Amino acid sequence: MSKFMNPALSGLEVYTPGEQPQDRKYIKLNTNESPYPPSPEVLAAVNAREAADLRLYSDPESRGLKQALAARYDVEPENVFLSNGSDDILNFAFLAFAAGESGTSSSNSNGIAAAGRKAWFPDITYGFYPVFADLHRIEAVQIPLKEDFSIDPADYCVLGAGGGLISIANPNAPTGLTLTLRQIEDILRANPDKVVLIDEAYVDFGAQSALPLIRQYENLLIVQTFSKSRSMAGARLGFALAQASLIQDLETIKFSTNPYNINRLTSAAGIAALASDTYFEENCEKIMKTRHWTKAALEDLGFTVLPSAANFLFARADNLSGMEVYQQLKARGILIRHFEKTRIRDFNRITIGTRQEMETLIENIKEILKEIIREEKP
Ligand SMILES: *Cc1c(COP(=O)(O)O)cnc(C)c1O
Repeated sequence: MSKFMNPALSGLEVYTPGEQPQDRKYIKLNTNESPYPPSPEVLAAVNAREAADLRLYSDPESRGLKQALAARYDVEPENVFLSNGSDDILNFAFLAFAAGESGTSSSNSNGIAAAGRKAWFPDITYGFYPVFADLHRIEAVQIPLKEDFSIDPADYCVLGAGGGLISIANPNAPTGLTLTLRQIEDILRANPDKVVLIDEAYVDFGAQSALPLIRQYENLLIVQTFSKSRSMAGARLGFALAQASLIQDLETIKFSTNPYNINRLTSAAGIAALASDTYFEENCEKIMKTRHWTKAALEDLGFTVLPSAANFLFARADNLSGMEVYQQLKARGILIRHFEKTRIRDFNRITIGTRQEMETLIENIKEILKEIIREEKP
């Protein structure tokens, strides 16, 4: 830290992104990227003419992309918010709906207290939620998952009155487990003064979107991304769907920070991706099939694997620690994600790659297990 840094920010616990090594070529199963390239239409859209237009600012309202998303999800453009990756939207949501005015007891025009607001989320979930809470000095309440790593909706129905933000990833990360629409609806109904953010980063891989509920619930904020299912992690494009009033609040933050945060190339790529939705659906199908195959193969090798509706599996070996599996695979050129956190340190999160990549993974795990048996025999 330099002597110039705001001391109030010096102790921040930053987010730890998955490794993006530049030294050697790994089979990358550690950051839930798609193994497939963006659609041919996307590649064609990011062309020289579009690049020449980079001298001009992008449309701060991203009208073309908003219209395409509204048409795709059968809502109005006023129900769509766009930003530079969904992490950006999560950040805005924590700032807009959970940060309070410390030391005052003002309320907004609807009488919801501004001070004393909190953020609620599971103890095991996306690592950015506690980081944003910390950044904005929000009191975070981490609600433990059940023994089987599922979320108990009842825990979120007894949070009391008062404002704030409940964040739930559905499917959850890194477990891959889902909530039903009924369960989400219970949480929405029990918390009319809180925003309920459903982070649907992985929803296209087999979970049910909460989208049908936005007409009925003014406190529902759905966040999705082009990073995983649409093969565009490097483009940084996330979107939110909600009633117009919540979207307006997010626009207020965006226009107070960086109105041009969707660049021209990303915007063109996003519109082209939506115009080639069959390609995206086929990729999701392939990934789900490969997930099914991989889960069975891991179970055959003695792994415990949670049922996943995402593009990753959360798996525990029966005779190796999570760290050992991670390290041995890394030495063999395969990266998976390990979290050194008490409840889950025996697990690893394994992104679903191509069928061939997963076959290589399984072959390598078999060899690792064989070596252990050899070492154990004197
Ligand atoms: C990957 C991920 C995101 C962030 O995605 P970007 O749009 O790339 O910023 C958000 N939430 C969850 C749960 C994720 O896994």
